[in-house]
Amino acid sequence: MGEEPGTEARRRELSGSLERVRERIRRATEAAGRDSEPALIVVTKFHPASDVRLLAEFGVRDVGENRDQEAAAKAAELEELPLAWHFIGQLQTNKAKSVVRYADAVHSVDRASLVSALGKAVAASGRDRALDCLVQVNLDPDAAPGRGGALPEEVPGLSDLLAGTEGLRLAGVMAVAPLGEDPAEAFARLASIAEQMQRRHPGADMVSAGMSQDLEQAVAAGATHLRIGTDVLGTRPRVR
Ligand SMILES: *Cc1c(COP(=O)(O)O)cnc(C)c1O
Repeated sequence: MGEEPGTEARRRELSGSLERVRERIRRATEAAGRDSEPALIVVTKFHPASDVRLLAEFGVRDVGENRDQEAAAKAAELEELPLAWHFIGQLQTNKAKSVVRYADAVHSVDRASLVSALGKAVAASGRDRALDCLVQVNLDPDAAPGRGGALPEEVPGLSDLLAGTEGLRLAGVMAVAPLGEDPAEAFARLASIAEQMQRRHPGADMVSAGMSQDLEQAVAAGATHLRIGTDVLGTRPRVR
């Protein structure tokens, strides 16, 4: 089977950057005195399906996407690969039907209307296993409501609603460190929100935190899942 020209160069590039990120995760895990490494979700948004295929050769099993149309197309093209698709972007309720067809987890559940849309979509899809859902928390202390992430005080109510919705499994919390704040402090607040959630919902043990810039701080704060794009794939094309 022939490959596109340039594939071999890209393969070497991705293999090198992936190894460097894995090494950072190993070191951060060791520095934090943790027994087990967090899982690496490679965020492949804006990059072609051919890159995801190469990453799969190197053992990547978890990939993250933030736009439904792009994610749906890639998941369909790569259907034969053993990949888990993590939806990490802001999600409109009218996209719920599409997302539940390919996603293994949705990290960006931040409002009641989305919980009910996802629950209905799972019921209508005939999907045979529950959809893992994480409550996205807005960690910005000056956050206005309704802008990507539930406020910390909204998390318990939203978690109870999720846990009580058939077809959905409350899996944990997700957050992005706010700009202009030490990520270690933001991730410490997330860890305490996660702990409170787990007291009420013992199985909800995922803590999705840490991107290219702040993965070390996230590992130190107890993240179980890292979402790394740029440092594996390179900078994203700006326009498309
Ligand atoms: C794009 C994105 C990432 C990856 O960020 P990088 O800085 O490229 O590693 C992680 N999480 C979310 C929610 C994203 O949208």
